Amino acid sequence: MISKIFIASRNKGKIKEIKNYLDGLDISFSSLLDTPRIENIEETGKTFEENALIKGRSVYNEVKIPVLADDSGLEVDCLKGEPGILSARYAGKNSDDKKNCEKLLKNLEEVTGAGRSAKFKCILVYLDEGGPKYFEGVCKGIIIEETRGQNGFGYDPIFVPDGFSKTFAELDFETKSRISHRGIALKKLREYLTANN
Ligand code: IMP
Repeated sequence: MISKIFIASRNKGKIKEIKNYLDGLDISFSSLLDTPRIENIEETGKTFEENALIKGRSVYNEVKIPVLADDSGLEVDCLKGEPGILSARYAGKNSDDKKNCEKLLKNLEEVTGAGRSAKFKCILVYLDEGGPKYFEGVCKGIIIEETRGQNGFGYDPIFVPDGFSKTFAELDFETKSRISHRGIALKKLREYLTANN
């Protein structure tokens, strides 16, 4: 019986999305927002899985209750998976969402049409005394040539998911949550928690 989960994140948007997805399971949540004494954890892994586990393990060792950690990012096929685990810091030390998008658009200047294919990936790790369990979500799409839309964050204004004509930044929150990499991974986690509760 899983009655408590600690979310290894301080990102309010992410915490809200996770709680929304896992609503109604009779599980109570806390997060790094409630425990300021736990310091930021350096992501030194080479894959999303490694980084999620690094975050999850270090928090689990502190709180000793089931922990949920995640790592995510954008992989562009013709750039051999870049920016990947460097998604948040793609434009260097003083990266922000705008600079990261600009750098990516510049790197794709010579690439047209289907050559601009990409995918968002999210790895969730659920960690308890039984060890880590991984849940993956992937959302495929295309990087367009200019920014469009005001919603969301990160690379949302330049990513159009397959089957849609709007960018993630033009889609409403509910639609994005349903089809996104994070939404897909959370749906799998919910199925796991339901089966084990
Ligand atoms: P993290 O999982 O919070 O470490 O996110 C890594 C980075 O990947 C973010 O800073 C964004 O640049 C990018 N990213 C992850 N998920 C999304 C998304 O849903 N939309 C846009 N960018 C995202």
